[in-house]
Amino acid sequence: MPGSRFRVSATLVSQLSKLGLKPSDVDFVSFSHLHADHAGNAPAFASSTWLVNAAELAWALGTPTPMGVDPRLVRGHAKDKTVSITLDHDVFGDGSVRILKTPGHTPGHQVLMVRLPRTGPVILSGDLFHARENFDKSLVPPFNVSRSETLASIDRVHRLMRNTGARLVVQHEPGDIQTLPAFPAYLE
Ligand SMILES: [Zn+2]
Repeated sequence: MPGSRFRVSATLVSQLSKLGLKPSDVDFVSFSHLHADHAGNAPAFASSTWLVNAAELAWALGTPTPMGVDPRLVRGHAKDKTVSITLDHDVFGDGSVRILKTPGHTPGHQVLMVRLPRTGPVILSGDLFHARENFDKSLVPPFNVSRSETLASIDRVHRLMRNTGARLVVQHEPGDIQTLPAFPAYLE
């Protein structure tokens, strides 16, 4: 948000290097949405193919700049390295990594659903849910761009979880993060 500062103790690039990877090794990048606290590392992945929701990008680059967006993070990315998506997107075509359209927090918000060999399906919330309470009570923050779309997206994720048994990770919820293996360990 404007005037806010976010600080992490280890950069994403330094964490990648601990895995023996550089940003240029990453083929695909996608963002749950383009608020700066979710897109801050975007410029490091200039050589990757970005899978970007068309409505989200148009909104982020619109005038006046929406609150919480820093258009410099996304404006410079090469058009020939950008895949514009409007619906769900199956990244590898095998259902293992799927981007699911869940608008409302922003116009092109999306959650990520991955199918892991041992854990099974896992959904990363982006900002569809800021806290567990948003999930439990279907609470919609007043700053979301659309309350009705948010409620429909929440309903979609509730149904997905019922139908697939997916585990939800609410990314702004410390309790959810603490249950994940600590880097460099990972959910298998
Ligand atoms: Zn956000």
